[in-house]
Amino acid sequence: MQVLKFGGSSVANAENINKAVAIIKNKKSVTKTVVVVSALGGITDLLLKTAALAEANDESYKIILKEIEDKHLGAAQELIPVQQQSSVLSLVKKICNEVEDICNGIFLLRELSARTKDRIVSYGELLSSQIIAAKLNAAGLAAEWKDAREIIVTDSNYGMAVVDFSATNKKASTFFGASAASLFIIPGFIAADKNNITTTLGRGGSDYTAAILAAALDASVLEIWTDVSGMMTADPRLVTNVKHIPQISYQEAMELSHFGAKVIYPPTIQPVMKKGIPVWIKNTFAPEESGTVIMNEATATGTSIQGISSINHIVLLSLEGSGMVGIPGFSKDCLKHWRTHPSM
Ligand code: ADP
Ligand code: ASP
Ligand code: MG
Repeated sequence: MQVLKFGGSSVANAENINKAVAIIKNKKSVTKTVVVVSALGGITDLLLKTAALAEANDESYKIILKEIEDKHLGAAQELIPVQQQSSVLSLVKKICNEVEDICNGIFLLRELSARTKDRIVSYGELLSSQIIAAKLNAAGLAAEWKDAREIIVTDSNYGMAVVDFSATNKKASTFFGASAASLFIIPGFIAADKNNITTTLGRGGSDYTAAILAAALDASVLEIWTDVSGMMTADPRLVTNVKHIPQISYQEAMELSHFGAKVIYPPTIQPVMKKGIPVWIKNTFAPEESGTVIMNEATATGTSIQGISSINHIVLLSLEGSGMVGIPGFSKDCLKHWRTHPSM
């Protein structure tokens, strides 16, 4: 069993999805394969924007919804031969109508709860995974689509739900054990609580979905396919002369990601580390490049620093004064005050 995950830029449009499909085709013959996908690049943000506009009673949410629908219909039309398009096109339309119905409700009520936000963003991964499943099937790679909400069980902490591993592991082994398929396609990021209400795993959470499934199924490998050729010594978008890290330990990868290396979503490491499953970070746009493997040991680099990460929009407040000593909650109140009067 192997688990492959393709991020938002890897599935941003038909051209990129074709690259991802070529990679899946190449890998598929080896063993049973689970493919986890993100929403088409930028769609999660657009869905959130639509919901926020509807809540603000701004009718322009309809324009963005149209943009979302057109983007998915266009990708499906480009990817799938005309004779096989009708079922996927009507599925895309049905899903988009559902999003519109929910947004109409938000608009009328001027109310958007965290629970409804999760429901809205879930459609990004539902759309992308259905289109990619249809593409794989049209390309002759019999792929079984499965809703992650029927496997991954969480609490009801909308926006950043906590996984119930024992329930999830049971559901995963029952489903994958019973299915005869050898290629599965699963929407990342989304899950459900014990009442079957949609939840999400936090922004960037598709990496985590893939790791949860890899651990549940004792996969031999987890591959994260993204837009960089592995982990670098710093964020390549910010630093020009970064170096590629060929091998890194779970511990080091976890630290780098916790402190801003966005290439991997921080909670991803935990489940795979427990099982000792190697994680490869590979580039969808340069699959021949070696990438980075995250495993128990790091390579000796001859330096004590593996990489440097950074986090934007952070403020360091230094509070001092004798009035603080022994007064519980003082720093919290200062922070609250500073948030409402940031110029102070
Ligand atoms: P995906 O959509 O595939 O999940 P992300 O945008 O979440 O991709 O993560 C990939 C991005 O992570 C890269 O484009 C890069 O800018 C950023 N990044 C930040 N720090 C690092 C790092 N140390 N090594 C590699 N990429 C990094
Ligand atoms: N689509 C979600 C996001 O943009 C999850 C992911 O891409 O991993 O945060
Ligand atoms: Mg990511």
